[in-house]
Formats: sequence, structure tokens, C-alpha cells
Amino acid sequence: MRAIVVEKFGGPEVLVLQQVPDLKPGPEQLLVRVYAAGLNPVDGYIRSGNYMRLPTLPYTPGMDGAGVVEAAGSKVRGYRKGQRVYLSGSLSGTYAEFCLCLPTQIHPLPPQVTFAEGACLGIPYTTAAYALFHRASPRRGQTVLVHGATGGVGIAAIQLAKRAGLKVFATGGSEAGIELLKKLGADFVFDHHKPGYHQEILECSGKAGVDVILEMLANVNLGRDLPLIASGGCVVVVGSRGAVQIQPRDLMVRDADIRGAMILQAPSGVLARIHSDMLSGLTDGSLKPVVRSIFDLEKAQAAAELQALPGACGKVVLACVPPSA
Ligand code: NAP
Repeated sequence: MRAIVVEKFGGPEVLVLQQVPDLKPGPEQLLVRVYAAGLNPVDGYIRSGNYMRLPTLPYTPGMDGAGVVEAAGSKVRGYRKGQRVYLSGSLSGTYAEFCLCLPTQIHPLPPQVTFAEGACLGIPYTTAAYALFHRASPRRGQTVLVHGATGGVGIAAIQLAKRAGLKVFATGGSEAGIELLKKLGADFVFDHHKPGYHQEILECSGKAGVDVILEMLANVNLGRDLPLIASGGCVVVVGSRGAVQIQPRDLMVRDADIRGAMILQAPSGVLARIHSDMLSGLTDGSLKPVVRSIFDLEKAQAAAELQALPGACGKVVLACVPPSA
């Protein structure tokens, strides 16, 4: 089978397509034919060797994907060959024609969701749901600021928040991204590169501030987020790439909190509930991933370069099926 193999940590150029031995599922594993793999920022952190947990080299990257069940191990029950699934984690990496996974890593993919869309679900939607509903718990009618809403997690957060009856403030950093946020139904949209946009957010909230902020780049924004929190509200830090200075008094005067959210820390019961709720949203159409670009598997380097550029506008996906399939 064909797979992307990383033999040394580095830039996108270390993503090399290779012919590798076919995989066979162990007794408690499944083999999935991967039709599409979703790229996430964490793939880049791992590939460059800058992450808290690194795989042993060589390895095949990728946590998210979608495809069909090809085979199940002798102890696995309840799956049939050809069943459509999305992957939220795998044992062998999703940037490949096939991957091995545990039963807990696959979830049903409704027929109206394409494989490319299914490849955008795992990390982005579970992270957004965990941060929004399990690390924070806004009530219907309350406000959420998705600070960095044009990427995978942000788009998922907008859809989940709208579905839960929240009023959504969302930021983007490009013209195309801002148009996308309007199309997604965000109630108020801001440009996070425009000077003074924090003041605009405050004005739009009637000077009361927002109840929840989902923060995708805390090292840049956290200090200026705090004055935007409503009394009793919170910031949930989803992404951060360095240190930041804050004024603790901004929290004190609002009875406000800063919380972290790390999807790898989510308890298994919570994850199961999140996936089950996602299935309802995918089925009724209220959750619909935005695919920005699809690259053939052999173009993984170009895909990783696009994923890392500013000006996000949905998800970057690899098509893993061979041209003849
Ligand atoms: P992504 O698809 O690459 O999107 C990045 C987002 O950050 C875009 O919306 C981008 O907006 C935005 N951004 C860039 N500059 C910004 C600024 N100055 N202020 C606010 N937002 C800004 O990444 P993603 O998958 O959505 O993930 C978002 C972040 O969460 C990443 O840092 C990722 O590593 C992290 N993450 C954490 C977890 C977890 O478990 N905690 C899970 C998944 C992801 P423009 O491009 O429009 O400027």
C-alpha cells in the first residue's frame, strides 16, 4: 500500500510517499481503507519534532480520516466490511491508503457526509465541543466569541454554538475567511488583524462583554481577551504558541476564569457523548465541515504548506485513494 512516511523530523519536505507493507489487524483492531485524511496543526508540530509526545521514527502522520471498514480482528464485533466511518485517531497514521485503529477510534459516517468532510471531524469537532460544552457550559441565548474562527476548530465551534442557541461572535484574518464566517451564520464578525477590533467586540456586546471566549491563539490575545469577558464568564484556551502577559485584575473585577482545554485530556465517557451528539448534528445537517482544498496523497508536502499558512478558510484534506481505485 502507499503511505506517507516521515523518516526524520523536519519541515513539509520530510513527508515522503512510499510503498510500504500491507497492514493486518490484530485481534482487537480494525483495518480501515482511508479515502480522505484531514490535516491538523498538531500534525505539523509532531512532524517538526516540537511536541510533548513524539512517535518513534519512521512513522506515518495523521490522526483524522474517513473511509470504510476493510477488515476486523477476531475479537472485534459489530462492524461489517464496507461500513462508512470517520476516524478520530488511529494506530498507524491516516496519511495512507489503509490504517489500523481500535474500535473506539472509529465512528459511523452518515451517507450525506462525504469522505473529505468526514476527514475534518475528529480533532476539530471534538475539541470545539469539549472546549465549549465541557470546559465551559454556556446557556442558550448567551454569547460566545470564537477568537480564530476560520480554521478547523473555529468553524466547528461556530456550528456547535449556533446549534446550541448561542449568539456567536467570530474573528477571521482574511477577506475570504470573514466572508466564510458570515456564510456560516456568525452573528457578529470581526477582523483580528484590524486595529481596535476588541473595542468593536465590546460595543457589539452592549459593553457587557461575552460569556465565553474560545481562544485559538492565547499567546497573542489572552491579555486583551480578559476585558472582553462578561461578569462570571470565562476564556477557554484552545491554542497557544508561547508566553503572554495578563492583568489579573481584569479577572478579579469580573469574577471570571481562564481555563485550558486539551482534547487528549477528555475523559472517554465525555468523548463518547461528543461523538454521539456529532452524529445527530451530521445527520440533521446542522454540522457540516468546510473543506478548503483536497490534495492527492503524493502532494502531502504542498498540503502541509497550505495548512500552515495564515488566512485559514476551512480544512485541508488528502485524498488517499490511488488514482485507479
Ligand atoms: P487552523 O485550522 O490552522 O486555524 C488557525 C486559526 O487561528 C485560524 O482561524 C486563524 O485565522 C486563527 N488565527 C491566526 N491568527 C490569529 C490571531 N491573531 N487571533 C486569533 N486567531 C488567529 O487550526 P485549528 O485546527 O483551527 O486549531 C486552532 C488552534 O488550536 C491551533 O493552535 C491548534 O494547535 C490548537 N488546537 C488545540 C487543540 C487542543 O486539544 N487544545 C486541538 C486542536 C487544535 P486566520 O488564518 O483567518 O487569520
